[in-house]
Amino acid sequence: AEIWQNVPLAPPDSIFKLTAAYKADTFPQKVNLGVGAYRDNDNKPWVLPVVKKATQILVNDPNLDHEYLPITGLPEFTGAAAKLILGSDSPALRDGRVVSVQTISGTGANHLGALFLSKFYTWNGSKQVYLSNPTWANHQAIFRNVGIEPVDYPYYDPKTIGLDFDGLMNSISDAPSGSVFLLHACAHNPTGVDPTQEQWQQIAKAIVAKNHYMFFDCAYQGFASGDLDRDNWAVRHFVERGVPMLVCQSFAKNAGLYGERVGALHLVSPTKEAADRVRSQLSVLQRSEISNPPSYGARVVALILNNPTLFAEWNQDIKTMAERIITMRKELHHLLTEELHTPGNWDHIINQIGMFSFTGINTDQSKSMTEKAHIYLTTNGRISMAGLNTHNIRYVAESLDKVVR
Ligand code: PLP
Repeated sequence: AEIWQNVPLAPPDSIFKLTAAYKADTFPQKVNLGVGAYRDNDNKPWVLPVVKKATQILVNDPNLDHEYLPITGLPEFTGAAAKLILGSDSPALRDGRVVSVQTISGTGANHLGALFLSKFYTWNGSKQVYLSNPTWANHQAIFRNVGIEPVDYPYYDPKTIGLDFDGLMNSISDAPSGSVFLLHACAHNPTGVDPTQEQWQQIAKAIVAKNHYMFFDCAYQGFASGDLDRDNWAVRHFVERGVPMLVCQSFAKNAGLYGERVGALHLVSPTKEAADRVRSQLSVLQRSEISNPPSYGARVVALILNNPTLFAEWNQDIKTMAERIITMRKELHHLLTEELHTPGNWDHIINQIGMFSFTGINTDQSKSMTEKAHIYLTTNGRISMAGLNTHNIRYVAESLDKVVR
């Protein structure tokens, strides 16, 4: 018998498959609305000007070496990253109750957080994590890999193309106390639907009442509103309320450092003493998995976060990205409602936030967009707003109009 005969062939990742199909397409007006990466108005990847500057500072540093980083990462990076997501006046940071570990971007933070919970969380019965329906497709796989079973909670309501707030609140109160809930801190992927601040307050109250554990995934800070402080509001609110929690943080999108894999896991503990024990075990786990994280991206981000001039420039770059996306939302909405008079209500396009929009079109209509119009999107009707630009938006609007008529 052949050695790997029991290995079944896995299907290719749907997003990467979509990108490959787009690349192979020779149609001149083809559009890629699948990819979760920012593109400028000419559909080009955008190296943030502030990142270019920071990179120059790094390469001109005569003392730069390629030694290993500490197991938990570059301290100048993790310390500043914690302030960015938790707020610089965070009571948890002041008390030394936060453990911050540099990870392989947001994916690595999710993995390390899940791995730590699988080993050390006091599970009330079976190991389960509550995930929004729908969620980032990788969440299920990441938790299953470490023996935690994903369970859905209602999140998206197809009738309103908005938040199923009652469904979410009911799940929180119906789940066994001490359950682990994963919520997206802002710019929910794939729906673009976020709770309002009032709703977040009610969610926090309900989570506390049931003694649940909060697993925040924050991959888009700054990308939602264009304002870093506004986009960490939910996380800050949960810290202020003393909710037991961890936060996964990515700099892929907001710093355009996708391939550099720079991120962090922040775990907020009840005491400094508990934080020290948690840190020691996270270090053991990190050591066996990656030994220590990569240095380049963390150095770039540390320079930006710790230098007030660069930090201000970064805020400007984030605004540039967020505002272009918001403009595309307004323009698409305008074209559909005012010019084409497309049947149906399209207000969700401007009410949703961040990189993605759930258009509300069904699987067949999504497939038809790709097959007939060469517009590539996932079959759940999600479009990446970053794939829209002034050159292709009318074509996309007209194609959307055609498939829903
Ligand atoms: N979490 C969510 C919700 C995401 O959408 C993504 C990226 O698409 C990530 C985490 C992780 O991304 P990365 O590992 O590139 O930081």
